[in-house]
This record gives sequence, structure tokens and C-alpha cells, in this order.
Amino acid sequence: MKKIIIALIIVFSAFLETANAAEMSEWAKGDYSSASEKGLIPLSIAVSNLTDNVTRGEFCNLAMNMFDTLYTGEVKLFDCPFTDCNNDYIVKAYSLGIVHGKTETEFCPFDSITRQEMAKILVNTLETAGKKLTVSSGKDEKAYSYADFSDVASWAVLDFVKVIKYGIMSGVSETELNPNANATREQAVAIANRSVDKFKPNAAVYAKPKLTNMENGAEVSNNLSVTWDKNNSAEEYIIIVKDEDCNLIDICTSVINQAGISTENFDKGKRYTITVAEVSDKTVFSDAVEVIYDEEEERFQINTVSDKYRRVFQNGTPFKTKDEADANMATVQIPVWHLKDNGTKVASKTELVVNANLAADVVKIFTEIFEDAEQFPIKNVGGYSWRNTAMGKVSEHSYGTCIDINYDENYYCYADTGQAITGSFWKPFENPYSITPDGSVVRTFAKYGWAWGGNAWSRLHDYMHFTYLGN
Ligand SMILES: [Zn+2]
Repeated sequence: MKKIIIALIIVFSAFLETANAAEMSEWAKGDYSSASEKGLIPLSIAVSNLTDNVTRGEFCNLAMNMFDTLYTGEVKLFDCPFTDCNNDYIVKAYSLGIVHGKTETEFCPFDSITRQEMAKILVNTLETAGKKLTVSSGKDEKAYSYADFSDVASWAVLDFVKVIKYGIMSGVSETELNPNANATREQAVAIANRSVDKFKPNAAVYAKPKLTNMENGAEVSNNLSVTWDKNNSAEEYIIIVKDEDCNLIDICTSVINQAGISTENFDKGKRYTITVAEVSDKTVFSDAVEVIYDEEEERFQINTVSDKYRRVFQNGTPFKTKDEADANMATVQIPVWHLKDNGTKVASKTELVVNANLAADVVKIFTEIFEDAEQFPIKNVGGYSWRNTAMGKVSEHSYGTCIDINYDENYYCYADTGQAITGSFWKPFENPYSITPDGSVVRTFAKYGWAWGGNAWSRLHDYMHFTYLGN
């Protein structure tokens, strides 16, 4: 292994709550990736749980990255009166009149930001960068049609009218703006990305670092060697490691396109993600890749999403026809527990059709679930099915890379209202067929790199659904 220069900073998680197990909601991935390529994402957001609330400081940082993308002139900086922060981006935003403190002397950078504060900062940022947002004087603007528009504070009314008119922000539902609600980091990133797309559609795009050739170090045990494509304009690289609960496990820097990551403290049953940031005049993040313990090889290995596609499809491209998909499926026999009316469980077997390249893993997954002390009862289970989703997209079930378990008791629903799309309910700990978030089923699938629809996305919950590719 090559000698590397590396500064290792161990940062223990600042997040006390058990967060959503998803690194990021499915809907946010496109915006996040696009925002990253524009250099909009602050490091403080990248190292945090993206499904948690964005803070005032982080949003200010995001807004200043937006400003730098939209405006190239000089900015005259003033002294900041805040005693609780002195970050460059807060000084700059204050000097430009884009932000104000919560009091004369406090900015409160760690407070969650409200939607109306976001609306004000967004409009101030765009207008200070020379973008004109005009509104009509009458009450015919769309924002007025929301049932709770009267809840918007007087200082934010005009800003909310503008962000709704220009489609930069939207209501939290068809009828509500919820101006005092907080927003998540991924929502903030999506808003910043869409603002730049709207007001500077040809913003510069920076190449994301692409992770390559990852393997266990031969010389140092418990060490994972990570390399990525070299970019001559990069001043330095930052490597971010998070666990499956999105807690920051490790962050280190490297001046060359390689780093060694210690897996000594990694839990073999858990999934970890690695992201590399390239720092030049902008900070651009690679896609997150997964690290999973490979029991046969007895070592941790990195699994990129493209590795997963290569594993399940010949040449990495999804099946285009039902005939092509049919030809790539396999029927597997799996052990299951059946729950009888008198409450006893009996061992049984059932069949499942899945992608042939995942068949061996699927048998292992169900065998481990069967052998776990929990003896989770399985009433029905389905894998491959050539079809579209309820939302009209090609279902990942068409690739044989998703599995549904106990359909009725683990319903697919809207996260905000709980309204069912398919199935009837989800009552973990109450109904024995409902899948529990920390139970053997979710744990075992996670170990093999499968996400659970029960916590993978923020707008929709699909409690019956496990996915290898993440959809
Ligand atoms: Zn499903």
C-alpha cells in the first residue's frame, strides 16, 4: 500500500436521536447530486443527517454558496455584532443585509430555521445578487390561496408571495404553507438547487470525485483503502464516513487521491457510507458508497450503487422488456415461520422469484430471519413482478430486486397523512405480522445492503418493501 499523508480527525456523533436509517430520502437524490455539482452544499450539511432539520447557520452557508454562484462582484465586509458565531458566510450574509440576528448580539446559528425565515433569506439572496422577483399588487398571487396564509408573519408576507410565485418553495400540502414549520437539510438543498436552476440555468458544473478501486489494505489489517479519480484543480480532499443511522463516524483529509479508512470499530452487521469531497474553489461531493462486511471474504468491502447495478444486470443497464427480465429471474425456496390461530409458530417453506444474481443472498437473508430468536412470522412474500408503481414509474419489482413481506399488515402509504396506497395498516409491536424498525427482518436485509421502504423516504412509507437498488 502506498504511503499516504493523512490527517485523521475522529468526530463523535453529535446526533443523539436514532435518526432515519436512510442516508437521504429517495426524492432528494437528484437535487442533492445536482447541487453538489454546482458546489452549493456546505460541508456542515454533508456530514450531517440530511433528513434532520436544517439550522440557521447551515442555511446561511447554503444561501452564500448560492450567492457566489449567482454573483461575481466584490462584497464589502462589515464587523458582525454577533457574539455566538464568526463564520465567514454569516459575516458575509450580514454585511450584505441578507440575514439579521435573533437579537442585537446573537445569530443563534444552531437553531432550526423556520420556513418563513428561509423564504426571507432566499429572496434577499436572489435580489442582492441582482435577480428581480416581481409580484402583482393585488391578492391574486397564488400564496394568498393557502388556508393558513394569515399565519405568515408580516415581515415575511412579500417573501412568501415571491417564493411561491417563482416555484422556489411550495406549500407543505395543497392547502397549507406552514410558515413556522422547520425544514430538513435535504429540503433546503433542493430549494437552493432549484433556485439556481431558475435564476442561473447555466451555472458552472464541477466534476464530482468518482470513487474507484477500493479494497482492503494488504499491509494494515482493518484498513480499507479508498481511491478516487485525481483532479489537478483539487487542493485537498475530505473523506466522510457515516453509519447506517447517518451518524458521522469518521472524517479525515488527504492531499492525494487516496485514503486509508480504519474499519476496526465498524460493526460487522451494519452498513456504512463513504463520501469524498473535493475542495478547490468549490467543495463538491462524490456519491455516497456503501461499505458492507462480506462474510465469505471475511472483510469489509465497498459497494457502490453502480456496483449493485453491475451485479444485477448484464452490462449495468436495467431490463427493458418483460422477456428480458423473465430470463434473468430465479425461483428460490426459503424457510418461513407460519403463525397458527392458537398463537404457535410452525416451520414451513415457500417460494419466491427474484433476480438470479441475488438468489443466493435472498436465501441467506430468509434463512437468517428464520433462525433469529424473534421467529418473525411470514404470511405472504413477493419478489419479481413486471409492473409500474402506484406512482406510474417502472417498479423496481420489475428487476427482481425488491421483496414485499406481509402486504396487508405493512401498508404502503403517504407519510404525512398515513393514507393507504396498498395494504391496510402498520402496527409494529401490536400486530405480529407488522415489521418492527429494529427487528430481525430490517436488520438482516440491511446487512446484505437492502434498504427498507419503512424508513427509506420522507414522503412515502412502504413498510412491506425491501429494496436492493434503493427504489
Ligand atoms: Zn414493494
